[in-house]
Amino acid sequence: MHEATRIIAIDGPAGAGKSTVARRAAEALGYAFLDTGAMYRAATWRALHLGVNLDDPAALESCARAMQLDMQETEEGLKVFVDGEDVTQAIRSPEVTRVIYKLDQNSGVRRHLVALQRQFGERGPTVAEGRDIGTVVFPKARCKIYLDASLAARTERRAKELEAKGLPVDREKLRAEIHERDEHSRNRADSPLRRADDAVLLDTTNLTPDEVVARIVQLAREKLP
Ligand code: C5P
Repeated sequence: MHEATRIIAIDGPAGAGKSTVARRAAEALGYAFLDTGAMYRAATWRALHLGVNLDDPAALESCARAMQLDMQETEEGLKVFVDGEDVTQAIRSPEVTRVIYKLDQNSGVRRHLVALQRQFGERGPTVAEGRDIGTVVFPKARCKIYLDASLAARTERRAKELEAKGLPVDREKLRAEIHERDEHSRNRADSPLRRADDAVLLDTTNLTPDEVVARIVQLAREKLP
């Protein structure tokens, strides 16, 4: 059962730095890393790619269920393949981000992806990050962390990431987009983003990624001795 394996559940809003620090903490601990946001992104990419009607919940669920998803950790980071095609870059496109809410509020899509996430966790020690890991995917995980940071800090981090890729950034627009995604994640009916009662809150506004990773590794050693 997934509850019995070593799981570190990390949740939090967009731009809280989850994937960077979760990956590095997994590396430090020798755990596998599971980026669940990449799975919602992959399902969204597939629906767009196949021209599925985004307003047809049953069609979105079938599309997600038929997806051949392969995620591989490589030296250059996570590589994501859908139906054999490398979609690592494509799943991060603004178009995918803009319509992902159509899939993330679809209970059928969520059920399928949550089942895949639990299978992954059953294979061995895992650091899983997302929005509902401590509340829904692995509610019995013994080490849960909720990462947060101010909206200003999260906007600045995302802006720097985009600028590093050579993309133009309108900070006001970016801030509004992140705020809108926060509101959507917190207010959706199925699996809203919230801190699990037993999750440790870590505000990363004034912390470097190194400091956050060190704190997660320390918590993991305390809670999963
Ligand atoms: O973390 P990332 O920005 O890649 O996640 C993309 C989107 O996937 C989130 O904005 C959210 O809509 C959705 N998501 C989710 N549940 C998760 C992980 C991600 O609904 N566990």
